[in-house]
Amino acid sequence: MAIHTLNPATGKKLRTYREHSPRQCELAVARAQRAFAAWRRTSLGRRTARLRALARELHRQRADFAALATAEMGKPVTQALAEVEKCALGCQFFADHGAAWLADERPAGAPAHRYVTCQPLGVLLAIMPWNFPFWQIYRVAAPALLGGNTVLLKHAANVTGCALLIEASFRRAGFPPGVFQALVVGPEQASALVSHPGVAAVTFTGSTATGKKIAALAGAALKKGVFELGGSDPYLVLADADLALAAEACAAARLYNNGQSCVAAKRLIVVESVRAEFEALLVARLAARRSGDPRAATADLGPLARADLRDRLHAQVRQSVRCGAKLLLGGRVPAGPGFFYPPTVLTGVRPGMAAYDDETFGPVAVVISAPDEAAAVRLANDTPYGLGAAVFTRDRRRGEHIAREQLECGNAFVNEFVRSHPALPFGGVKQSGHGRELGAFGLREFVNCKTVSVG
Ligand code: NAD
Repeated sequence: MAIHTLNPATGKKLRTYREHSPRQCELAVARAQRAFAAWRRTSLGRRTARLRALARELHRQRADFAALATAEMGKPVTQALAEVEKCALGCQFFADHGAAWLADERPAGAPAHRYVTCQPLGVLLAIMPWNFPFWQIYRVAAPALLGGNTVLLKHAANVTGCALLIEASFRRAGFPPGVFQALVVGPEQASALVSHPGVAAVTFTGSTATGKKIAALAGAALKKGVFELGGSDPYLVLADADLALAAEACAAARLYNNGQSCVAAKRLIVVESVRAEFEALLVARLAARRSGDPRAATADLGPLARADLRDRLHAQVRQSVRCGAKLLLGGRVPAGPGFFYPPTVLTGVRPGMAAYDDETFGPVAVVISAPDEAAAVRLANDTPYGLGAAVFTRDRRRGEHIAREQLECGNAFVNEFVRSHPALPFGGVKQSGHGRELGAFGLREFVNCKTVSVG
């Protein structure tokens, strides 16, 4: 089978790739297992040195990496460059701190002759989405490889070129053959690999629907898994918020990555007394964003990554309007080539509307009115998802209380746009998945915390 990549800014074909055959997949698993036998015995110092070399390689190649992401999935090139730099920093970060997190430990109260050691699990299968085509991969691979595992990547088809460039970066950084491999396969072969006896564990990032299928397969085989799934992050704007700050953060968080981020500001829950003023500020900011060729440094917004994703987003907007939501901005598919969608604002959004009930993956800001703070918190949690959330208020202590105690999610921010950092665990609760990436928690997901007793 062939895989075609398209440029979403033009709709034109970029390249055709041949899918790996089942036999090639078998060989890749065997290679990953052989590489694991040697890599796990490679000293932590040497593994760390490879990660540092990888960080240098990413920094050196950032322009080529960024250009390819922009061509394959339409991210504005300035954001693509920032993503590559974040990958380099992430690799550097795990090189600087990972060894300490993997060190043997004698927990307080343990007998003097017993301790815990972190041993690798084996071959990790990583099934990944296209929206951050580099960051998703390096944030998984850097800690997994540092811990002594080897990695097989199954990337999304529309970023196959990125997958192969990533594989080459590991080679150029001096990782031994087989330690990191990219497989060009579709969903069927990827599912078969989840159950393959040569695969020790699975990490999946993508939609909740697919995550459930992969988790079922991993569960049936009793394999360890981390699942980073969809989100519908609430951003609460309370009556005492700095509305200009809140409108700017919501506009930026909704449009970042062309609105295609798991932790985008997907539901803006605004206390009714400030709703009209907030909406005016938000619409002004979104209307001023420049949409266009994502290769241009001036573009704030590029196309959506695929035609079907734009169709789906537009159908969600239309269904919501049919059910009574009001369009304050955008909402029309532009004429011309590519899969562009304008910054859009919907207000009066309620349960039963797609913009309330489902994840919207694109530049559509959804305003939901709340009579007061307590109702805002209730609405924020009235979702199957639990990835990120933000609250805007001038009372930082009240904001902290809401973020810490009341919002059901894995990342809760006050007066800020939600984003990940290599030092801090990232992940969700409820239908946004389980397990964590990044930080010491992420690093320890794919190790065997083994108790050793030397009597
Ligand atoms: P998707 O679930 O369609 O695809 C994700 C990956 O799974 C791709 O590689 C795809 O080819 C593969 N896949 C699809 N069906 C499969 C199957 N039956 N068996 C095996 N593999 C299969 O998701 P997407 O549209 O690429 O990504 C967008 C989604 O990802 C959004 O819901 C977004 O919120 C979520 N996401 C979550 C995080 C997070 O950290 N929680 C980060 C980024 C994206």
